[in-house]
Amino acid sequence: MIRLEHVSKDYLAGSGLPALNDVNMKIEDGEFVFIVGDSGSGKSTLIKLLLKELEPTSGTIVINGRKLNKIRRRQIPKFRREIGVVFQDFRLLKDRNVYNNVAFAQKVIGESTRMIRCNVPNILSKVGLAAKYRSYPRQLSGGEQQRVAIARALINRPKILLADEPTGNLDNTNAWDIMKLMEEINNDGTTIVVVTHNLEIVSRMNKRVIQMNKGVIVDDSGRPDPDVKDSASDGGSYGKSSAFGENTGSYDRDFTAFSRRDRFFGTAGTYGTGGSAYEEDFYDAGPPVDGGDDGDAD
Ligand code: ADP
Ligand code: MG
Repeated sequence: MIRLEHVSKDYLAGSGLPALNDVNMKIEDGEFVFIVGDSGSGKSTLIKLLLKELEPTSGTIVINGRKLNKIRRRQIPKFRREIGVVFQDFRLLKDRNVYNNVAFAQKVIGESTRMIRCNVPNILSKVGLAAKYRSYPRQLSGGEQQRVAIARALINRPKILLADEPTGNLDNTNAWDIMKLMEEINNDGTTIVVVTHNLEIVSRMNKRVIQMNKGVIVDDSGRPDPDVKDSASDGGSYGKSSAFGENTGSYDRDFTAFSRRDRFFGTAGTYGTGGSAYEEDFYDAGPPVDGGDDGDAD
């Protein structure tokens, strides 16, 4: 669950409008939410606050039951593991193949080689890239690179996936494919928050839409009552406006997120023990991921 209470962010205290101005927002476990708004409206600032890359000037942010301002510096890496993140420019490691780009995220949390060798092929097949595990980013299309980034974001099984303009560098077909992939991930229980400019995708996807302008939420199609929510999604527009205050506190749905997440990710032990040719192939994908001879800085 993500909750913002009276959150403001003023980069340059006092000079002009704050990037976020008294924002209240609640996103339940298992929701799929778009955040839209003109450039400069505060969308990326919001994402950075959720990742604790920035501190709010005032207000409270609660994620998965924890107040972000109570998280100590040394607890931040652990906190960030609960959140996967994807950016417009993919941010892959150029000198590593697909396998090692994804494996890297597991390595930094100290996952065992054995588990990494199970988990990476599993997640790559989920994102449709099982056959490309040896490819380097430069050998992939934009859509494929974004799939690698999504695999990397999901490999540690975060409860929440944040995406800041994930389709901004993609053509329409690839953008749509990435959105469908995100929808699939969401169907398996992961909370998804997507910042986008692509209003065509937003209206076709028919999800909750939070519209921002100049640091404030000007519209939110999310509704506390599912019956009301249905009538809010009649194509094209963002649905009827709802003062956000109505929602707070009364919006409790049971998404049974956890069991569905397990279905998407598979469970450890159901793969990786069979020794199939496919799996063996992955074993050879690149240098051992924790063998110390793969040029890593650690
Ligand atoms: P969006 O992602 O919606 O385009 P941003 O969150 O990036 O908007 O920016 C919101 C406002 O905050 C803009 O006016 C922007 O110029 C300002 N801003 C963003 N980052 C910084 C920064 N590091 N220092 C000062 N102002 C910033
Ligand atoms: Mg932005």
